[in-house]
Amino acid sequence: MPEGPEVETVRRTLKHFVLHRTITKVTVRYPKIIDGDAEAFVQAVTNQTIEDIKRKGKYLIFILDDVAFISHLRMEGKYNIKPADTLYQKHDHIIFYLDDGTTLRYNDTRKFGRMKLVDKDHYLEVLPLSKLGPDPFSATFEEVYPKIHRSHLPIKTLLLDQSIMCGIGNIYANEICFAMKMDPRTRASRLSKNRVKELIVVTRQILEEAIKQGGTTIHSFDANGITGLFQVKLKVHAQTTCQECGSPIKKIQLNGRGTYFCPVCQKRRY
Ligand SMILES: [Zn+2]
Repeated sequence: MPEGPEVETVRRTLKHFVLHRTITKVTVRYPKIIDGDAEAFVQAVTNQTIEDIKRKGKYLIFILDDVAFISHLRMEGKYNIKPADTLYQKHDHIIFYLDDGTTLRYNDTRKFGRMKLVDKDHYLEVLPLSKLGPDPFSATFEEVYPKIHRSHLPIKTLLLDQSIMCGIGNIYANEICFAMKMDPRTRASRLSKNRVKELIVVTRQILEEAIKQGGTTIHSFDANGITGLFQVKLKVHAQTTCQECGSPIKKIQLNGRGTYFCPVCQKRRY
């Protein structure tokens, strides 16, 4: 499942191909991908030019002349750029024909992804984006600390809560706890102010590094489409041995999510 950095890679790659292109026609092959009336969606985006593509957490926002739409890839969603006369692939659900003779195709084997038409100027104020917390790159201590301080949940669970900071998924939550040398089960309320300040800085560093690594894969997609998935150098997630101390990495389930940590480097902080 793509997390913030992967979606950022998709965003940058897509911008390279479709910015300033006009959508001349849209074919909807699986209407449920559109949240709302599919016909109204098609009407609203046809003959509109793609002015920009933005991101909030794991959501892409396509900014057109008069409207905008949100795209959430969920588990398996991806985009392809193909010449207009290329045959559809099995799971190509939405096809945007562009004025340069190419098509932007949304492909999703599991069909969990969604697109939603939104007001161009107020999309941050409506669902689903309105429930998202700040992006870690702009989050302030004042926004984050109170939410963490009043929670008794494990800190790793809170990192996954998109209303506190958005864009962090399971992989990077594990990596952040490791970088903090913090047991992922640590109760959030036990973190001092300084540790929360550190948490914000470390989160930025981990995500920034992942975006940098993703950047190297930009423009190099092919038959697999633009998924944003890339080989990130991970220190703890899905690892067997700690790269710092050589101890075996422990895997547990925390709120139903696979949680990896080094029991030696990540001491409990109660
Ligand atoms: Zn270790």
